[in-house]
Amino acid sequence: MNIVLFGPPGAGKGTQARILTETRGWPQLSTGDMLRAAVQAQTPLGKQVEAILTKGELVTDAVVIGIVAERIDQPDCRNGAVFDGFPRTIAQAQALDKMLAERRKKIDMVLELKVDDAVLVRRAEQRVKDTLAKGGTARSDDTPETLRHRLEVYYKNTAPLLEFYGKQGRITTVDGMASIEAVTKAIAAAIDGR
Ligand code: AMP
Repeated sequence: MNIVLFGPPGAGKGTQARILTETRGWPQLSTGDMLRAAVQAQTPLGKQVEAILTKGELVTDAVVIGIVAERIDQPDCRNGAVFDGFPRTIAQAQALDKMLAERRKKIDMVLELKVDDAVLVRRAEQRVKDTLAKGGTARSDDTPETLRHRLEVYYKNTAPLLEFYGKQGRITTVDGMASIEAVTKAIAAAIDGR
């Protein structure tokens, strides 16, 4: 199954995508993770996008569409994938529909994780604390200022996708404010009940 996990930064997309990978076997396809890996490895792409990620801006559609197109042709995506953080613009959504159609596939479900902005800011702060406590390095875009900016970018560029998918009757909404376990259960019920 191809599932798009949709929601603002900090909604829990990454957490739920990883759980879906474990329980269902569909790989998590996180454009954010792929871009961060490129930055970490200082590849030409990584060097090109590093400042954009740190500022919380969007990388160009062409770049992310390119990395997704390459990734979905990997053998592990044969039975589907969980798209996490992609698409983020209408152009990306149209490109995703097209690239899946060309492969005789489609998005089977758009799962919206609905959460309050105030909760998102608190979660981001907690994520930084947890990462530091584990001896890790916090993401360069997890500061409160950048998170606020990422939320603005989300409302301007990404939230319109709700209407795009909504008009086509493709959205299933889940309460993302519930506990991780409850959200996982709601997602499982939505998938199994289709
Ligand atoms: P994420 O981990 O999904 O929050 O993504 C982290 C950052 O990577 C974003 O703030 C953007 O700079 C970039 N990014 C990730 N996915 C996309 C996308 N689909 N389109 C544009 N930029 C993206």
